[in-house]
This record gives sequence, C-alpha cells and structure tokens, in this order.
Amino acid sequence: MDLTLPPRDLELKAHARRFAEAHLFPVEEELELNGHLPEATKARLKQAVIDAKLNAINHAPEHSGQGYTQLQQTLINEELGKATGALWAVAWHPAVALKFGTPAQIRDYLVPCCKGLRRACFAITEPKAGSDPRLVETRADRRGGKFYLSGEKWFVTSGDICDVIIVHAHVDGDPDKPTLFLVDKSLPGVKVKRIPKFMHTYVFEHPEFVFDGVELDDSRVLGQVGQGFELTKDWFVEARLQIAANCLGAAIRATEIANDWASRRVQFGRPIRDFQAIEFMLADMAVEIMAAKSMIYRVAWEIDRQEASGHDRKLVHARASAVKLYASEMAGRVVDKALQILGGRGYMRENPVERLYRDLRVDRIWEGTSEIQRAIIAGQIKKRGLGPYVDWVTQSSGG
Ligand SMILES: Cc1cc2nc3c(=O)[nH]c(=O)nc-3n(C[C@H](O)[C@H](O)[C@H](O)COP(=O)(O)OP(=O)(O)OC[C@H]3O[C@@H](n4cnc5c(N)ncnc54)[C@H](O)[C@@H]3O)c2cc1C
Repeated sequence: MDLTLPPRDLELKAHARRFAEAHLFPVEEELELNGHLPEATKARLKQAVIDAKLNAINHAPEHSGQGYTQLQQTLINEELGKATGALWAVAWHPAVALKFGTPAQIRDYLVPCCKGLRRACFAITEPKAGSDPRLVETRADRRGGKFYLSGEKWFVTSGDICDVIIVHAHVDGDPDKPTLFLVDKSLPGVKVKRIPKFMHTYVFEHPEFVFDGVELDDSRVLGQVGQGFELTKDWFVEARLQIAANCLGAAIRATEIANDWASRRVQFGRPIRDFQAIEFMLADMAVEIMAAKSMIYRVAWEIDRQEASGHDRKLVHARASAVKLYASEMAGRVVDKALQILGGRGYMRENPVERLYRDLRVDRIWEGTSEIQRAIIAGQIKKRGLGPYVDWVTQSSGG
C-alpha cells in the first residue's frame, strides 16, 4: 500500500494554494463588508481562473476541461475551500450531466461552459420539493411537437451569473418522467422572481426563477425523457466530494489561525495553549481533520482507480455520502472550536473564522442534507451489509 501523493498532484495542490492566496484571500473582506464584489473584480477573477487553468477541472480536455483526476480535483478544492465568501465558486465546474448531451449540445453548451464563455446553473429544488424531488411540480407539457415549461425553482446557485439553467422537470407532470432541460435565461417566459439573502456571504446569488410556458424544442432535452435522476447521480457524487474537500480546507485554515493565536495570546501569565482546555481542543481539531482527509483522499483515489478498472457507481455513491456527511459535520465542529479559541476576536466579521462559521453551515444542507446522507448510508447497510463502510473493499464484491 503506497499512500504517497505523486509530485504532479502535490504541485497542483501548491498551485491552487498560491491561487487562493494571490486572488481569493485579498478580496474576502471587501466581499464580506459590501455583500458583493464589483463587476470588474469578478471579471478579473474569471480571467485569473482561466490563466491558472482552474476552470472546468471536472471535464475532459476534448471538451475544453482540464482533465484532472478526481484526486487532483479534490486537492485543488481543498485549497480553494480555504477562501471565505464561497470564493471557490469563481473557479467554475460545469455540471457533469452536460457531458451526456448530443454532439450539438456539447458544442453549444458544454464546451463554451468549460471555456467560461457561458455558465450553467442547476435547478431542482422548488417550494414544495427539496429532499424529495419526486414532489417537483415544474412540468414540461408536450404539445404540437414542442415542450412548454411551467413552474418555479428556488435556491438556484449562481443563477445571477449563468446564462443557461439546467431545469429538472416532469414531462406532462408525470413523476416517472423526470427530465433535464437546457433553458436559456433569455427565452421568453423565464423570469427572476426574487433574490433572497442567506446566512452566508456568497460571491454570487441564489435567485428564485419562474417559468411561464417557456417553449422548448427537442434539442433542449438533455439525455432522454425520464433520465433526469440518472444524469444527476454522477453530479451528486462529484458535488459531494467537492463539498467535502472545501470543508476540509476550511477546517484546516480555521485550525491554523486558532493554533497560531493560541501561541500568541497570553492570559494569566502564559500563552492560552498552555491551558489544557485549549490544547485539547486543538488536539481534537487535528484528529478530526486527519480522519476527514483520510476518507476524502481514499474515496477520490478509489473513483480514479475504478474509472480505470470498471466503475462501481453504487459503491462510489454509497461512500460519497459518508464522506460528505462526515466532512461537513467535522468542519462545523472544528470551526466552532476555532472560534472559541479566538474568543471575542473570533466573533468579528473581519476574522476568517467568523466567516467560515457561517459559510460552512449550508454544507450540512445542500446537495443532500445530513439526514438524507444518513438515510442513504443506512439504506446501503440494509441492502449490502456493513461492508462498504467497515471493510477495505474497492469493488462491491470481494475483499
Ligand atoms: C444556499 C443554498 C443554495 C442551494 N443551491 C441549490 C441549487 O443550485 N440548485 C438546487 O436545485 N437546489 C439548491 N439548494 C437546495 C438544497 O439542495 C435544499 O435546500 C436541500 O436539498 C434540502 O431541501 P429543503 O430545503 O427543501 O429541506 P426539506 O427537504 O424540506 O427538509 C427539511 C428538514 O427535514 C429533513 N428531512 C427531509 N426528509 C427527510 C427524511 N427522509 N429523513 C429524515 N429527515 C428528513 C431534512 O434533513 C431537513 O432537516 C440550495 C440551498 C441553499 C440553502
């Protein structure tokens, strides 16, 4: 068993770290205090992402992506996840589902999205459908050889800067026909209803959209009618690993800040790290980070290996849930302790730890809540036994 990271992967991780330090950290406070960044800054960051080849790290070079392995993506996301204000989102990851498009859709949507000429967002959630997407009410009615899309979508991340929305809708209102549609925002009938504010400061927005009889022809169906969930599953695996890696980076940054402060802050005649209450918190934080990192790197490595030797998607799915659950909850605990070590300074918005404390809360909610991850894991245990979690198997059968 060789756990050494190859030099190329280490260099990529260092590259992402330098990028975060040079481009993301310097704009964090401005974003926090103003709630948004000027358009010129966003444009500069976008160009910096392209120059650093950190755009579309999740897509193949033939589609103008970077072609990085899952482990390489994880290492990059760990470094970018250290930034507050979700500034990691400036390095765009076009939805995996786009690669299942027709050659024309790949040319018109995926390739321009990878290059940064277009940007797509993903809209599943609705007022009545969150954890249970079968309750989706957005429908695409088939009439006269066209689809007519009607409904409402909530929490559409980056909906303000995207120009195409991948909308999950039920054809003819039938929950057995979940389907993805490529909906250009400029089409008649697409409206932004509201742009709510959230607990975190996020570099982009999460608008609510209304679709009022938007006319779509067959060329706007991504994959097949009824394939909506199939195409989204791969995205969930990737998004859950990405969230886990971002959480890992955030927990590391918070711990580094707290560890440094614990050495410098003197109360009662000695550095506060000399109080066992403080050093035990630091010890727990370091152990939690070590555990999360081991899980995340392992599963990313397994995905890369399985891609080469026959992908066991179900096993990957089962473990991605465990990784997302553990990493997001771990980061919440770690950042909470970091804030405590910093005392009142940790409660100041100018302190990255305070911002991370708010930023990370959503990681237990989006891309499947912690409860949904537990339900997936428990379902896997019921179906396959404890093996996927307690054995060291890399395929669903064997050893
Ligand atoms: C900032 C932000 C950005 C988002 N971005 C997007 C986006 O880009 N696109 C998109 O489509 N969605 C997005 N979402 C939506 C997100 O995925 C949902 O909020 C999430 O899936 C939970 O759905 P819900 O909020 O409707 O909660 P609900 O599903 O109503 O859940 C409420 C509570 O009930 C619990 N619960 C539900 N079912 C079960 C169960 N079976 N067992 C145990 N507990 C259960 C949940 O865990 C939760 O605690 C975003 C959300 C936020 C907050």
